[in-house]
Amino acid sequence: MRTVYVNGNYLPENEASVSIFDRGFLMADGVYEVTSVLDGKLIDFDGHAVRLERSLHELDMRAPVSKEDLLAIHRELVKVNGIVEGLVYLQITRGSDGDRDFIFPSPDTVPTIVLFTQNKPGLADNPAARKGAKIISIEDIRWGRRDIKTVQLLYPSMGKMMAKKAGADDAWLVEDGFVTEGTSNNAYIVKGNKIITRGLSNDILHGITRAAVLRLAREAQMEVEERNFTIEEAKAADEAFTTSASAFVMPVVEIDGVSLSGGTPGRIATRLREIYLDESRKAAV
Ligand code: PLP
Repeated sequence: MRTVYVNGNYLPENEASVSIFDRGFLMADGVYEVTSVLDGKLIDFDGHAVRLERSLHELDMRAPVSKEDLLAIHRELVKVNGIVEGLVYLQITRGSDGDRDFIFPSPDTVPTIVLFTQNKPGLADNPAARKGAKIISIEDIRWGRRDIKTVQLLYPSMGKMMAKKAGADDAWLVEDGFVTEGTSNNAYIVKGNKIITRGLSNDILHGITRAAVLRLAREAQMEVEERNFTIEEAKAADEAFTTSASAFVMPVVEIDGVSLSGGTPGRIATRLREIYLDESRKAAV
């Protein structure tokens, strides 16, 4: 049984609860972060904490704990649950003033904060990364503030189910002909030696792994171009991959039934996965 954190208390998971009036439950009025754990340490914690602050700010929500306390809570949960490889999930909602209303409750309303761990042995040495992912493309019909990491994840869940039904692993979202991102990751193609990924805007989540991987790619003298690309361009690319906190760098080997890089993980994606894992382990806290 896991120990989880709810509103200031460390509790066994079956004793933790939040109100049925919580706006996270009723309105998806909440934000989240997922931080991975390798060697019992947190990967890219600072990036996740900074993005959390930004998400809260964009939604006029206040942070219930300081960044320092947040780090301490993450570390305590990793310790008490004996996590060597896995994830820490964090969610903050606007809380509840004891009823349902579209209007936000008073700013004095105490936000709800919940954290729990997920034990994932083999997260880094993932067989799926050696095989590569098969992708389908679907229309991006999400809301227009994808830069805020909200808990409105119904369409991404539906997208993953559509992929599963089609015998694939995940979906890339396409808007006005251009790929925005994956259901729960940022999307990249490689042409020649150039890594191409959509630039930052409200259209995509500003991935913490994206920022780290692009920095490491540039440091390794790889060429990076931040621009829109179509799904047709992706199908004709030499390689493709995705990045996320929970899957790091994941090679893509098929898009809408078209095989890429001979149906095996590409050279650049494989190299970036190695570099990212090495460097982020070194910088873990
Ligand atoms: N894009 C979307 C829509 C996501 O949900 C995620 C992660 O959950 C990402 C991109 C990748 O972001 P990060 O690297 O910070 O995990």
